[in-house]
Amino acid sequence: MKKTNFNPGPSILPNEVIQNTVQAVADFQCSGLSLLEISHRSREFIAVMDEAVALFRELLSIPSGYSVLFMGGGASMQFCMVPYNFLETKAAYLNSGVWAKKALKEARLFGEVIEVASSEADGYTYIPDNYQVPEDVDYFHITTNNTIYGTELHADPQVGVPLVADMSSDIFSRPVDISRYDCIYGGAQKNIGPAGVTFVIVRDEALGKVHRPIPTMLDYRTHVEKGSMFNTPPVLPVYTALQNLKWLKREGGVTEMQRRAKVRAEMLYSEIERNKLFRATVTREKDRSLMNICFVMSDEYRDLEADFLAFASERGMVGIKGHRSVGGFRASCYNAMPIEGVRDLVLCMRDFEKNH
Ligand SMILES: *Cc1c(COP(=O)(O)O)cnc(C)c1O
Repeated sequence: MKKTNFNPGPSILPNEVIQNTVQAVADFQCSGLSLLEISHRSREFIAVMDEAVALFRELLSIPSGYSVLFMGGGASMQFCMVPYNFLETKAAYLNSGVWAKKALKEARLFGEVIEVASSEADGYTYIPDNYQVPEDVDYFHITTNNTIYGTELHADPQVGVPLVADMSSDIFSRPVDISRYDCIYGGAQKNIGPAGVTFVIVRDEALGKVHRPIPTMLDYRTHVEKGSMFNTPPVLPVYTALQNLKWLKREGGVTEMQRRAKVRAEMLYSEIERNKLFRATVTREKDRSLMNICFVMSDEYRDLEADFLAFASERGMVGIKGHRSVGGFRASCYNAMPIEGVRDLVLCMRDFEKNH
C-alpha cells in the first residue's frame, strides 16, 4: 500500500533523491566502485562537497563572509559547540521547547546564561514574545521551529546582538535573512537529508573572539580552514543532502517551498478547526508551525485517540503519533511532503468523523 510519511525526523525525502543515492552506493558515477569505498579526498568526492556548499549558498542567498560546514555530532553537538566558540561571559537564550532548553543547559557550562523568556510552564504551546534581550550578551540563541510542539518563528528577529539559531526542522522551508545571524545550525535529518550530517552556517568574523582554548574538533575554525575535511566527513549523508538540494533547486527553491508549506498547513489546520473530533494544540495562529502540525482529539472524543491512529495507519498514514511529551498527533510536513499526502490525511480525518 502507498504510504504517506509524516515522520518527524529522520523523515520524508523525494523518491528520486533516494534512487540517486542507491545508484551511487551501487556504482558511483560509473566508476565501478561504490560511493562507500572511495576516498573522501578523491577528486570526485571533493566535487560533491563543493557542490553541496555552493547550493547551500545559492539556495539560501548566503552573503560572502560566511562559511558553510558539514560535520557529525547532530544538532545536539552544536548545543556545546556554540557556547564553546561564542560565549565569552554571557549569553541569552529563548526557552521555547525541549531542544532550546537542552541548548541552554550546555551553555551554562561556559558562562552566565540569561533565559530571556520561557513558555515551559504552559507546555511550550506558544513562542514567548515581549521579552528584552540584554545588550551586553555575546549572542542570543533561538530555535526557529520547535519540532515537538509545532510552534515556529516565521520571521528573523531583529535584536541588536548577534543571533544564533537552531534551524534543524525548518531550514530551506522559507527565505532567511542570513545577515542577521552569526551562526545557524541543524541536523540534516528533518529537511535536508538523512541522519549523520549536521550543517553549520557561520559568520567568519565572529570566530576567534573567545579566550578559552577549544579542542580542535570543536573549534569551528578547524572546519572552516579545512573545508569540512579536517577528518573524514559523513560521506554518504552529504551525498544524499546534495541530491536533495538539487531537487530543491529544480522545484523552485525556498520561495516555492514556503508556498507549498503554507498550502499544506492551511489545508490541515482548517480541517482540524472544522472537524468536531480534533483541536489544534497551538492556539495562537501566528505561532503555528508550517512544518510540524500538532493536534489532539477534542475533549469529548478523547477515547478515540487510539482508534484514529489505527484508522489512519490502515490508510497508509505513517508517523502521525504525537511526541510522547505532547500526546495526540503530529503531522510533520517537510519539503518533500506532496500536497496530495496532506489531502489524504484530511480525507482520513473526514471519513473518521463520519463514523462517529
Ligand atoms: C531533532 C532536533 C534536534 C536534535 O537533533 P540531533 O541531530 O538528533 O542532535 C535539535 N533541535 C531541533 C529543533 C530538532 O528538531
